[in-house]
Amino acid sequence: MVSRVIPVDVFDLVIFGGTGDLARRKILPGLYRRFVAGQMPGDSRIIGAARADLTDEGFREQVRAAIAEFVPKARQDQAAIEGFLGRIHYVSIDATGTGGWAALKALMRENVVRAFYFSVAPSLFGDIAQRLSEYGIADAWSRIVVEKPFGRDLASAKALNAVLAKHFNETQIYRIDHYLGKETVQNLMAVRFANILFEPLWKAEYIDHVQITVAETVGVDGRGAYYDKSGAMRDMVQNHMMQLLCLIAMEPPYHFDPDAVRDEKLKVIRALKPVPKEDIVRGQYGAGKGEKGYLVHSENPASKTESYIALKVQVSNWRWQGVPFYLRTGKRLRARASEIAITFRQPPHAIFDDATGWHANVLVIRLQPNEGMDLMVMIKEPGPGGMRLMQVPLDMSFADALGAEADDVPDAYERLIMDVIRGNQTLFMRGDEVEAAWAWTDPIIQGWEARGDRPQTYDPGSSGPEDALMLMHRDGRRWREIRE
Ligand code: NAD
Repeated sequence: MVSRVIPVDVFDLVIFGGTGDLARRKILPGLYRRFVAGQMPGDSRIIGAARADLTDEGFREQVRAAIAEFVPKARQDQAAIEGFLGRIHYVSIDATGTGGWAALKALMRENVVRAFYFSVAPSLFGDIAQRLSEYGIADAWSRIVVEKPFGRDLASAKALNAVLAKHFNETQIYRIDHYLGKETVQNLMAVRFANILFEPLWKAEYIDHVQITVAETVGVDGRGAYYDKSGAMRDMVQNHMMQLLCLIAMEPPYHFDPDAVRDEKLKVIRALKPVPKEDIVRGQYGAGKGEKGYLVHSENPASKTESYIALKVQVSNWRWQGVPFYLRTGKRLRARASEIAITFRQPPHAIFDDATGWHANVLVIRLQPNEGMDLMVMIKEPGPGGMRLMQVPLDMSFADALGAEADDVPDAYERLIMDVIRGNQTLFMRGDEVEAAWAWTDPIIQGWEARGDRPQTYDPGSSGPEDALMLMHRDGRRWREIRE
C-alpha cells in the first residue's frame, strides 16, 4: 500500500538543545526520515541551537553520527543523508544570556513557517521564550514545542503556562506528549469514531473494566537523581497514561478538530474522582538478578520514590458509572509492553452448556511492541464433539495491514513534529488540560507524602508488587499477563 504523505509548508525548525540526548535519539533521526519521505519541502532547514561551540560542519557530523546510530541500517541512504545534512545549520546560544541570539535572528527568513523546539530542561523554557520575543525572532505565526516534564505539580505547571503565555498565544504552544503521536493511539480514535461497531457498546452497560499497562524492563540507571524527584506517578501517570485514559473515556467530539478533541479530554480529566489510598499500590524494585536495586541508583538510601504504581481510577459521569480503569506502570518489570485492554461484559444469558469455554470479549490496543489491535472473540472450537467454545484474536497488526516493515511505521516524534509544521494542535496538550491533570494528581501524591507511605519492594524482572495483584483480586478480576 502506498502511504499518502500530506504536504507541509517550507519551514525553519530551530532545535534548542540540538546536541542533547533527545535530539540525537529521536528528533534528528525522525526528521531525516521525514526528509526521505519528502516532507522537508523547498529549502526547509533545521537549525541546531545549543551551548556547545560548534560550526555548521561540526554539528552536521553529530547529526550524521545520530542517524548512523538511531536510524535502522536499511533506511540509511548515503545520498539522502548528504541531502539532509545540507539542510542543517547551527548556532551556539546561551539560553540565559545574550550570546548567539543576534546570530540566530540574522539566520531566520521571512515567509516560512518558524518552529522552535525547546528540547532543553524546563527551567530554561521561560528564558528562551523571553529572548525569542525580545530579539524579534518569533513572530505571530511562530510555534514553540515544549517537552515534558510540564511542571511537577499544579503550582509549577501554572507558573510554566504563565511564563509561556507572556510571549506566545495558546495556539502557538505545542506541549508534546509522544504517546499521542503513536499510530495505535490515534487509531483508537479512528476505531471509536469511524465505525458503528464499537461506540454503541462503549459504556458501562457493556464494558466491565479497562486496564492500561505501561511496563518497562529498564531501571532508572543513569537517571537516578532526576527520577528520584519524580517517580512513576509524575513521570508516567499524570501525562501519558492520563492521555490514554482520556482517549478511551471521552465523548465523541463534534469534529476532529484540535479544540473539539481537547475540550472532550478536559471533561474526562475533570470527571476523575479522587483516588482513596486503598486504591493505590506503590512499589520500588529491589536488588537481585544482577540488579543493584532502586535505592542504589537513586543515591538516597531512604528514598520513598515509587518506580511502580497501580491505581484504580473512576470516571464520574453517566457513561462510565461503576467501570474501573486500572492503571499500572513500572520499571524493571518482566517485559517491555504497553497496552490498553477493554474487557466487555458477559452476554446477558448463556445458551451454551460449555460454561468453562467462555471468555469475555477484550479489545487490546498494543502500543509496544508490535503496535496494533486484537479483538478477542468467542468462536466454536473446530471439529466434531459438540459445541465447545474457544477464544481467538481478530488480529490487526499495523505493519502487516499496511504491508510495511515494522521499522517503517513513522515514529511518534516524526508525526508530531510534522503536525507542528502544519499547525495542527489536536495531538498536543492544552494548558488547561495539563493543569487539570495536576489538580487531580497533586492530592494523591500529597496523601502518601503526608502519611509517609513507603513503597512495597518488588523483585526486578517480576510483574510488580504483590499488593497490586490484590487491587484486582478483591474486585474479582485479574491483571493481564505482562509479556512482549
Ligand atoms: P540533555 O541534557 O541531553 O541536553 C540538553 C541540551 O540543552 C544540550 O543540547 C545543551 O547544550 C542544551 N543547553 C543546556 N543549557 C543550555 C543553555 N544555558 N543555553 C543553551 N543550551 C543549553 O537533555 P535531553 O535528555 O536531550 O532532554 C531535553 C528535554 O527533553 C528535557 O526537558 C527532558 O526532560 C526532555 N525529555 C527528554 C527525553 C529523553 O529521552 N532524553 C525524553 C522525554 C523528555
